[in-house]
Amino acid sequence: MLAHDAGSGMFDTGLDPGFLDVLEKHFDGADRVRNMVSILRRGPIAPFLSWHSGCPAHTSDLLKFHTQEYIDELVQADASGGKKLDKTTFLNPGSWGATLLAAGTTLSAARHILDGRGKMAYALVRPPGHHAHPDRADGYCILNNAGLALQLALDSGLTKIAVVDIDAHYGNGTAERFYQTDNVLTISLHMKHGSWDPSYSHAQSGSADLTGEGKGLGYNLNIPLPNGSGDAGYEYAVNELVVPAIDKFQPQLLVFVIGQDSSAFDPLARQCLTMEGYRRIGKIMRNMANRHSDGKILIVQEGGYNISYSAYCLHATLEGVLNLEAPLLDDPIAFYPEDEKYAVKEVDVLKKFWRESIPFLKDI
Ligand SMILES: [Zn+2]
Repeated sequence: MLAHDAGSGMFDTGLDPGFLDVLEKHFDGADRVRNMVSILRRGPIAPFLSWHSGCPAHTSDLLKFHTQEYIDELVQADASGGKKLDKTTFLNPGSWGATLLAAGTTLSAARHILDGRGKMAYALVRPPGHHAHPDRADGYCILNNAGLALQLALDSGLTKIAVVDIDAHYGNGTAERFYQTDNVLTISLHMKHGSWDPSYSHAQSGSADLTGEGKGLGYNLNIPLPNGSGDAGYEYAVNELVVPAIDKFQPQLLVFVIGQDSSAFDPLARQCLTMEGYRRIGKIMRNMANRHSDGKILIVQEGGYNISYSAYCLHATLEGVLNLEAPLLDDPIAFYPEDEKYAVKEVDVLKKFWRESIPFLKDI
């Protein structure tokens, strides 16, 4: 997966406007994942982990989520030496193989749980996936890794799966695919970013009024949080909104979609989580999995672009999910003051909205 080279340019555009001597590498660089691997191999969490290799996905796997036309477009783009898929998403030589490996590795992690070989698995994959639509790439994402795993779980006979996505951005591709089903409860906590492309409809915005359609009405829950929500704001949102919704839904499998771009030091967001916030959220996820899914939890890697702090926050998240006693690793850089009062206000308003408009949450 390190072979995917998203290029360099001004910010994440791949463009060189000609005014800068030093262009930055695209944020989705291989180094972020190199550091995630190394901290898990050499950090204090290492003795608690075991490592398994993934394998590339087959086209037949991809068609469970994506359209034939889109897969054909990607194969063709790879054969012709690459393509700019959207304004920040690049398929370069090496990218398609990496993308198939990310999708296949996520499916391998899901099978590990579905086949009963283990209760927990973490798919450390790149490029990320949760913005990828059934028929197009979006926001660094080419194939929807978590979405493919969800479909595999449904095909294996599960009828109730919950997804909690804490990447700083709306998991719009996953939401779109499962928007009309009550088999998959999608919950996304993200910054209040609105649509990130003027051509996008309101459906891509992550707004709280996007609650699903038809049979799926009420089974897409968006929690947009203000900038600077921090550990206390996120923990309040998780305890007041996510936990009651999951407790009502009672999933057979919990899919925890993680992005360290919600951290205090990420170039793409200002949500201001620290290691301690990630650790606490990880612990809450584990407790919910213990209550409802016999401890079964699939974790899927999405964004997280500060190459040092993302690795540290990942370590803390997994400490939480593993329910380890004391923090194993100190936070080397957290220093921003917290200001959770805006998040608390938004969460309280959202809770009232859910009680009034989501039938299965009327008494949370
Ligand atoms: Zn993100």
